[in-house]
Formats: sequence, structure tokens, C-alpha cells
Amino acid sequence: MKSTTIMPVLFAGHGNPMNAIENNEFSAKWEEIASQIPRPKSVLCVSAHWETWGSLVTGVEKPQTIHDFGGFPEALYRVSYPAPGDKKLANDLSGIKGAKITVCHDRGLDHGCWSVLKRMYPKADVPVVQLSLDQAKTAEEHFELGKKLAYLRSEGVLIIGSGNIVHNLYLVELKSGDFNEEFGFDWAIKANELIKQLIVNKQYDELCRYGALGEAINLAVPTPEHYLPMLYTLAVRRDEDKVKFFNDKAVAGSLSMTGFVLE
Ligand code: ZN
Repeated sequence: MKSTTIMPVLFAGHGNPMNAIENNEFSAKWEEIASQIPRPKSVLCVSAHWETWGSLVTGVEKPQTIHDFGGFPEALYRVSYPAPGDKKLANDLSGIKGAKITVCHDRGLDHGCWSVLKRMYPKADVPVVQLSLDQAKTAEEHFELGKKLAYLRSEGVLIIGSGNIVHNLYLVELKSGDFNEEFGFDWAIKANELIKQLIVNKQYDELCRYGALGEAINLAVPTPEHYLPMLYTLAVRRDEDKVKFFNDKAVAGSLSMTGFVLE
């Protein structure tokens, strides 16, 4: 009898887009994880940087590399991540009953997606599809949609959520000019720890109702887009999956790089 590999699931705190080309502890960890997990047939990425009305999935054969940021060194704008798309996967997702996912034929990969994948699969030889964040959905609705993606884990698809648990750009403090300088405001560390605890305890209702978790969380999640990709990864977690945190550090005061693997 053929045994089926159940793919792990990854949430990556992507942080500074420069992590795509900078050798640092965060990007090194993404590389290490890719070397430790089974090689995926395709990647499905839910990134903080694609918000739409309605849920869309990229159905492009050769997705463009989108440089959706400003004020970074020229070298970052020269980065290309020419991974192929996976039209079959996109079509399959659009066929999931009750999910109302529409194939988008003219959208490439944003930096939330490629900054992490460039380190994980630098040859860009794993097909990549992105699923957007539907701004009309509540956190609970994102979580429910996420559950419908769980079957992909037994089809060789690596589901990646790319955002940041603590992400408040208004309150960033650059002491040395470096976004990756390791320090966190008290509330940022508190919020990061609280979310981790809720993940460990599988308290998904609380995680979906994060607005009621107190002041630290309200500061950590001033807007939902960097938080929601995490809910997609938790939605496909099996009961027996262990959670392994990595890059569990606060940087620039009001960001956390914390990620986790579920397997
Ligand atoms: Zn981001």
C-alpha cells in the first residue's frame, strides 16, 4: 500500500523585504526549513500583500515578480523570482465547493511570497500559486475558508502563510537604521507570547476574535493583513501536528519575526 506524505504547513514572519537577499539569521532559518521538509510539488502562499474583494487565486503560467515596496536599495528591485505558476492547482481551488475562489489571470507574486521563497527554493523550480486575502471576510470566515484547503497537504502542496504576528509599522523604532535590530516594546513581546500560547493551546476561536484580546494585541495587529495569513495555516492543522516556532524574536520594537512549522 502506498503511504501518503502529509506535507507540513509553514507560517513565516517575513518582515523586511531585504531578507530576500540579505544573509541573516531569519533568512538562514527559512533555508534550513526548506532543507528539512519534504520537497513540495507546489506551494500555495497566502501573503499579507495581496488584498482583494472576493478570494482570488493566481492562475498565471509565468507569474511576474512584483516589487511592491518603496525606498529600498536598487538590488532588491532587480530580484526576480521566476517560479512557474500552477494553473491546475488554481483551477482546482476555484472548484472547491462553497469556497468561491476566482482564478486571476494577471497577477504575479508579491514580496510577502517571493522574499521567503527565494531563500527556501532559490532555483525557483517549485511552482507557486498565491491565494488573496478577501477584505470582505471576517477572521472567522478566513479560518473557515482555510479549512477547505486542508486536503492539499496530502497532495504534495506546501501551504505557506506569510505575514507577521506583531506588525505595527507606525510604531517602528529604528535605533541603528536596521529593521532587523533585535528589540521589542513590552507590548510587542507580550502580544507575541500570547498569540503563541493560543496557538499551542489550539484556541482558534480566541485567535479569530483577536480584537477582544486586549491592548497589546490591538497594538500588534492595527490592521489585519499581516495576521490573517497565520489563520490559514492554523485552519489546516491536524490534531496530531506539533507546532515548532522559529525566528521567535521581536525586531525594530513593533515587529515580530516569529514563524512556525506544523507537522
Ligand atoms: Zn509585509
